[in-house]
Amino acid sequence: MANISEVSAREVLDSRGSPTLDCTVLLEDGSRGSAMVPSGASTGIHEAVELRDGGKRFLGRGVLNAVTNIRKVMAPKLVGREAGNQRELDAFLVELDGTPTKKKLGANAILGISLASARASAASENHPLYVYLQELYGSPSLSIPVPFANLLNGGKHAGNALSIQEFMIAPVGAKNGAEATRMVAEVYSTLKKQLKNRMGSSSINVGDEGGFAPPFTKTAEALNAIVTAINELGYSKHVRLAMDAAASSFYMDGSYSMDGRSLSTGELTDYYADLINNYSLLSLEDPFHEEDFEAYATLTKRFSNVQVVADDLTVTNTARLKTAVEKNAGNCLLLKVNQIGTLSESFEAARLAVNHKWGVMVSHRSGETEDAFIADLAVAMDCKQIKLGAPCRGERTSKYNRLLQIEEALSGVRFSWIR
Ligand code: PEP
Ligand code: MG
Repeated sequence: MANISEVSAREVLDSRGSPTLDCTVLLEDGSRGSAMVPSGASTGIHEAVELRDGGKRFLGRGVLNAVTNIRKVMAPKLVGREAGNQRELDAFLVELDGTPTKKKLGANAILGISLASARASAASENHPLYVYLQELYGSPSLSIPVPFANLLNGGKHAGNALSIQEFMIAPVGAKNGAEATRMVAEVYSTLKKQLKNRMGSSSINVGDEGGFAPPFTKTAEALNAIVTAINELGYSKHVRLAMDAAASSFYMDGSYSMDGRSLSTGELTDYYADLINNYSLLSLEDPFHEEDFEAYATLTKRFSNVQVVADDLTVTNTARLKTAVEKNAGNCLLLKVNQIGTLSESFEAARLAVNHKWGVMVSHRSGETEDAFIADLAVAMDCKQIKLGAPCRGERTSKYNRLLQIEEALSGVRFSWIR
């Protein structure tokens, strides 16, 4: 295993035109790995801290302090260390930061190094990234995950009045990843055509994750539009519906602002019950605000056939996840590496989830880059589901396309849904 010879970083742009980090780790044997760091918009309050410069430059969103932390503080201490021992490397970075939220050096700076180092080590071993990550995570097998494709955007990701943030399809009945991708793209294009015919060209403008952002005001309008597109294609037996409510973004002072109405927790639960029954929802993410473990538990118990995904609630953080697991508040962990800031801690959270029979869904962020690391990650972890946004815009298609390449390379690899 080779030692680190150089660590560098620079400011680049993410899909919203905001600065983010691009990190590179060079090893003594000449291998190199780079990684770009994603960024959320509907971020959980318990996420690790993304270091931003403030001031006028880039409207305060510059990451030059994080770049300096890498160049001046972290790089000198990393040179000569073994890159292949990811757990030790990540623990060293966590310790160097010394704060529970990684606010001193920045979770964005730490994650950039953590991911770039894994890529460099994979290159050093002459392995594809997914093989290297499989060994690291200790997964017995590889599989191509079902893409959860966000076709209609609302909430903080769009300029419309929809409270719910993401309206997704999951082609669980596809026979392989290539067919799943084709179904997603066909439903997306059919939806585009139908929206344009019904509501005009402005209805097909897209939100942050590439899904359309029509001027709908009600959840049912969005779900009906997707169902109509699915039905036109005859895919109703192959494609299921899913949502990420991102409910913290429409919660205030004890009530939820939904479809122009103010709902209590109980009323919102009943509202979801109708949607689950009417649309046979497969998966529902962040149905309640990020501190309400009890409401998650009530919903999880009431609908044993629905996947209840915890995102802002658990923020890929083992301590938060432990509480959720103890309270049965959900049954699937949304795994976002930048919520916690290192690869090793993300793996720890995933292991905890799996040990308690929770699912794991690897996820992108609304602010993404062309880096497709999460595609390799989901294959390596055999987690069977990945949240990728729409099959549109380069920062989203890079992940779909990477999965297609991996599936071809691993001819005959399993594609399956768990439930
Ligand atoms: C999400 O909430 O799951 C999401 C992908 O959005 P963001 O990256 O804005 O948190
Ligand atoms: Mg979410």
